[in-house]
Amino acid sequence: MGALRLSPVAVMFKHVAATVIVLATGFCTMFFSSDHPIEYIRRWQDDYTRFRRDLHAHPELGFEEHRTAQRISERLTALGIEHHTGIGKTGMVAVIRGREASPHSMGLRADMDALPMQEESSRPHASTVPGRMHGCGHDGHATMLLACAHYLQETRRFAGTAYLIFQPAEEGRGGGKAMLADGLFERFPVERIFALHNWPGLPVGKVAVHSGPVMAACDYVTIDIEGCGGHGAHPHLTVDPVLVAGHIITAVQSIVSRNISPFDHAVVSLCGMQAGNMDAKNVVPRTARLVGTVRTFHAETQEWIEARLRELVVSVASGFGAKATLRYDRIDPATINDAQQARFAARVAAQLLGEENVVHDLEPSMGAEDFSYMLQKKPGAYLRLGQGGSGERHGLFLHNSRYDFNDEVIPYGAGLLAGLVEAGLPLVSGIRDQKI
Ligand SMILES: [Zn+2]
Ligand SMILES: [Zn+2]
Repeated sequence: MGALRLSPVAVMFKHVAATVIVLATGFCTMFFSSDHPIEYIRRWQDDYTRFRRDLHAHPELGFEEHRTAQRISERLTALGIEHHTGIGKTGMVAVIRGREASPHSMGLRADMDALPMQEESSRPHASTVPGRMHGCGHDGHATMLLACAHYLQETRRFAGTAYLIFQPAEEGRGGGKAMLADGLFERFPVERIFALHNWPGLPVGKVAVHSGPVMAACDYVTIDIEGCGGHGAHPHLTVDPVLVAGHIITAVQSIVSRNISPFDHAVVSLCGMQAGNMDAKNVVPRTARLVGTVRTFHAETQEWIEARLRELVVSVASGFGAKATLRYDRIDPATINDAQQARFAARVAAQLLGEENVVHDLEPSMGAEDFSYMLQKKPGAYLRLGQGGSGERHGLFLHNSRYDFNDEVIPYGAGLLAGLVEAGLPLVSGIRDQKI
């Protein structure tokens, strides 16, 4: 487990009776040593580690997080926290009111779902469900938001309302969208919203946040090619869809290299091909299918790539006498941080962790995130939290079959989320009581 590696600035909180923090928003807060949310939550490290490992051992796919939601709900009930279940199927929202009334509010969101993959681990808390794994650390995200709820409920050092959103089905199953369709922001009117994701490669105790694009838009493509099947020994009597597929695969690689500005970023990957029968070595099939994904940060680039794909797919096929169609599905929009909210989150992170532990220029990821739907509706930011820099376990990237969330990170993530609430919904008096 190891002791928390607090920065010198953060450690200062431990030794100085009280420190006056003046955030650039102009309000003033008294921060007492025992009030530091990360240190406060650290006392619960063992309990929340056990909770996280229990979730890890029992992974559930998107919209099937019944046990996960139940475990979280039981904890919220035990803490006396109002919460609403069944939002976007298995989603849940906890409502915590600060000690002072205020019309202001903030949303915090964590995902809960696992992946359809096999865990390769002999750890005691490894997945007990074949073909299911918490390979993205959503077990840790849900645990951190729960620990944050615990802290906020116990201290309530803020004014207004905090809405803690436990979202299902982030891994490509549309959980964020489902919660919005279920009236999330009508029922729980957040003014702004924040979320974080653990980030392998970023050391523990560091957080990355910047304005603008953080995660890419994700689109899926399906290309169906229709030729004319026949005998492999008489290809002149066929229209070979395998050959057409090969040319399409090559041609689409020209889109990023020749149609997109070198100063922009985009990915076109064809990741799967299906054609013919592996037992029929002398049969030219009639059809072939290619599938893949497109990643972009800007709507114009996304439009342009779809248009170029359509043009290339149809014209390459017709050049060979075949027909091809493109199905283009937009899955998640790009995750774009609001400039003001990203600056606010960076300031809070600097107060809690020390400025030297805030990374302002971590390069965006071509991965996608359905928190993007919530950021399209409300200003906010998506933060990336250090999960560990090296080593077999915590240096492994997300979706690796041996990945495991780093429990040492729990107080950092939970404390950071709580810090956003305390700084964003400050008490009117501006004074944080040491006594609760
Ligand atoms: Zn993932
Ligand atoms: Zn994830």
